[in-house]
Amino acid sequence: MDSIEAEKNQIPEIKNPDEIIFLGTVLGVFLVVQKDDSLYLIDQHATHERILFNKFIENMKRSQKLLFPYVIETQSDDDDEYLKSVSDQLHSCGFSLHSDGTGRWEFSEIPANYIGTEESLAEDLLGKHIPPQDLLYSLAAKTACRGAVKDGTFLDAASAKDLAVQAFSLTEKTCPHGRPLWVEFSKDNLFRLIRRTE
Ligand SMILES: [Zn+2]
Repeated sequence: MDSIEAEKNQIPEIKNPDEIIFLGTVLGVFLVVQKDDSLYLIDQHATHERILFNKFIENMKRSQKLLFPYVIETQSDDDDEYLKSVSDQLHSCGFSLHSDGTGRWEFSEIPANYIGTEESLAEDLLGKHIPPQDLLYSLAAKTACRGAVKDGTFLDAASAKDLAVQAFSLTEKTCPHGRPLWVEFSKDNLFRLIRRTE
């Protein structure tokens, strides 16, 4: 393993958040951050996605009662069968659902950290019939994507810094789709690139 590889595998632990210096946002996506002896380009959407994803999973048992239940009208018997087959999973993550047997499903409670309208819930559940064992992951990923700060959204310095601090404290350094949250350019590496020696 050469030294660059070794460096990549060594994600610095955060000792003091003040070591993180937020320098600005570039290309509508990346938070530019200096930490220790490295420059980081942090993907703001992917990082926020990971944070919201974790929050959804951690708070799965907590529900929010809806004043007006979400109603999903199924389009086929297949849809009804599918919702029946995943009811246990849905209950376990905080949904309360009931069908009157005519293809009308009422959701009186949804998970506290679910972000989405009645339409998005219908799409999340019936757009593709996700296998039951993958459904909670898929719901968490969709809710996270929907709630995460979008490309082109400009975060103020305090929020950006806060997101960067949270990024470095995450255990998983990827978004729910498996993409890395940032790229790191170490000072050594940058110096090497411009053939500079200290
Ligand atoms: Zn996304």
